[in-house]
Amino acid sequence: MKYWLYLAAKLVLGAGAVCGLQAALIFFYPQPPPPLPQFGPPPPLFLHDMLFTFATLGVWLIGAGVLFAIFWDQRRRCRICLHRLIMPLRKGSWGNIVTSGRPQTEWICPFGHGTLSIEELQITGHQSPDWQPHDDDIWKELESYYQARK
Ligand SMILES: [Zn+2]
Repeated sequence: MKYWLYLAAKLVLGAGAVCGLQAALIFFYPQPPPPLPQFGPPPPLFLHDMLFTFATLGVWLIGAGVLFAIFWDQRRRCRICLHRLIMPLRKGSWGNIVTSGRPQTEWICPFGHGTLSIEELQITGHQSPDWQPHDDDIWKELESYYQARK
């Protein structure tokens, strides 16, 4: 729940920043002189003023970049404590997929809450990252790993 609230907060802040940028563009952009009354109301600037239209496109591109950065950052965060995941570990091999497994990268939470596995091989379409939460007792997991290696 905390993970999704953090994403929602970042999306709201990003949308607010981009809307503020667009509002600043509209506010500070010099207005052209109004047309004569017989020509009706002045047309909107968007699509009628090339510089304003390109500036709006620039704001849209900044918004798309902000949205990409938000999701890129969110993908690499712990689902429990929201810290950035660390220590990428490459598993598998491109040259030996049959014997070593498919290439993937694993990221872990610095406080041991879980592991995120990201497949590098996307043959059958986009595969979403796999989050595996760890048990609270890290010694039990370590002991089972040690027992398995005996
Ligand atoms: Zn964590």
